[in-house]
Parts: sequence; C-alpha cells; structure tokens
Amino acid sequence: MENQRVAVVTGAARGIGAATATRLARDGFAVAVLDLDEAACEAVADAIRAEGGTALGLGVDVTDAEQVESGVARVADELGPPVVLVNNAGIIRDNLIFKMTEGDWDAVMAVHLKGAFLMTRACQAHMTAQKYGRIVNLSSSSAQGNRGQANYSAAKAGLQGFTKTLAIELGRFGVTANAVAPGFIQTDMTAATAERIGVPFEEFLAHAASQVPVQRVGQPEDIAATIAFLVSQEAGFVSGQVIYVAGGPLD
Ligand code: NAP
Repeated sequence: MENQRVAVVTGAARGIGAATATRLARDGFAVAVLDLDEAACEAVADAIRAEGGTALGLGVDVTDAEQVESGVARVADELGPPVVLVNNAGIIRDNLIFKMTEGDWDAVMAVHLKGAFLMTRACQAHMTAQKYGRIVNLSSSSAQGNRGQANYSAAKAGLQGFTKTLAIELGRFGVTANAVAPGFIQTDMTAATAERIGVPFEEFLAHAASQVPVQRVGQPEDIAATIAFLVSQEAGFVSGQVIYVAGGPLD
C-alpha cells in the first residue's frame, strides 16, 4: 500500500464521482472518496475494497474550510499524501434569471468555485512537496451558456479560468491541472433536471441523445475514462486544457 499513489475525488458518493473513484482504484490508486454523507462514501469505498482496491470514505463538505483541511490531513495520514485531486462535487439550483434567488447563486458558487479552491489549496501542499501532482476540475458544456443556469454556467466557466491559472502556477512543481467539461451525462443530476421540468427521464434521455452527434447520452464511465488519462503519469505534458467530453464538438 505504501507505494500506491493517492487520489482524492470529491462528490464521489454517486454519479461521475463514484465512477471516477472506482476507475482510479482499478488503475492502482488508493482513493479517498469524499462527499457530504460519510455513510454513502463508505458504500463506494466498500465496493472498491470488495474488488481488491484501497479506499477511504470521508464525509467532507467542500465549502467548509475546516472540514476540507482536516479531511485532507486524514487522507494524508491514513492513505498517504494525495497527488491526484478530482474536484467533482457539484449541485444545480436552476432558475431563469428573473426567478433566481441570491441563495441559488451563492450555493452554486460555494460548491463549485469555493469548494474547488479550498480542496486545491489543501492538496497542492502535498503535491508541490512531492514535485508531482494531477488536478482535474469538472467544468461543463453549460460553461458556454445554458437556459436556466446563469449561476451554474458562470461557475463552470469560472472553473476553466481557475484551471488555467493552476496550470501556470503549479507547472514548475510537476503539477498539471486540466478541466473536463462533460455534455449530457446520465446521473441523478440530469434526472433532477427532468423532474424539475416535468418530463419523464426516459423521454428526456431520448431527446438529449438525439441532439448528440454520436446519438447517445454520456455515462459516468465516459468521464471517468477521460479523467483517468489526465491523472496518469503519461499525461504530464497536457496542462491548462479544457477537454469537452460530449459526444461531439464544442469549443
Ligand atoms: P450528482 O450525481 O448530483 O453527484 C454530485 C455529488 O456531489 C453528490 O454526491 C453530492 O452530494 C455531492 N456534493 C454536493 N455538494 C457537496 C459538497 N458541498 N461537498 C461535498 N460533496 C458535495 O452529479 P453528477 O452528475 O455526477 O456530476 C458530477 C460533476 O460533474 C458536477 O460537478 C457536475 O456539475 C458535473 N457535470 C455533470 C453533468 C451531467 O450531465 N451529469 C454535465 C456536466 C458537468 P449529495 O448527494 O449529498 O448532494
């Protein structure tokens, strides 16, 4: 276990985060599974351990600086210093701008932007000390604008600027930073959108698939596979990039 590289994935109790934690464990990382609900994290960690991997489930609210600091310290103590961070935790609070509340705005900014900042600040200390690191931030095709998502698209576009700055600042320490921007992925998040607009999820999925050049919606594993490449050792010359994973071209 001492030789295993340690990866931290936030929002990893379900969806893209759980698929990414599982994939990275299969690729040989010891994985810290972070999410709001520690029991839900443990279920993912148990599944990883059941297939022979190493995992630690931790309840951490990424918007809380103290929880982030103590959570990352626990990861370093129990698994080893993290050299991979995937900032995946996310929420949506969709509304047209005239109905969007200050609370909707602040909540989305807090999880996506402040959460990524706090987690990165805590983990980069370990990465720079080891002169090696890989950071991946979850952006979105919504960064280009999406009706009902002024808060979310601003946060996801903000994460692209954050990523490029991390790449510039941390490159000299052997740390790369990239963003993955998924298109439509079949998770609880997109199921919640279907419910909000009152369309059965199956119908919502079929319509979304018809809009995608490869004629299907994405699965969490599609995103996990892209992240797996970006956090690999061989991806060391890819930094500051935004990779759209959307079944077709986006800028
Ligand atoms: P998901 O199924 O809703 O999972 C997100 C996870 O993040 C949940 O387990 C959630 O916990 C957790 N989380 C929320 N707030 C948190 C906090 N403050 N601290 C720690 N964890 C927190 O979402 P997903 O579809 O897998 O999306 C994962 C990421 O990809 C997000 O950043 C999302 O914006 C991005 N993305 C998704 C899509 C898509 O089509 N699904 C497209 C583009 C980008 P709770 O369950 O307890 O709330």
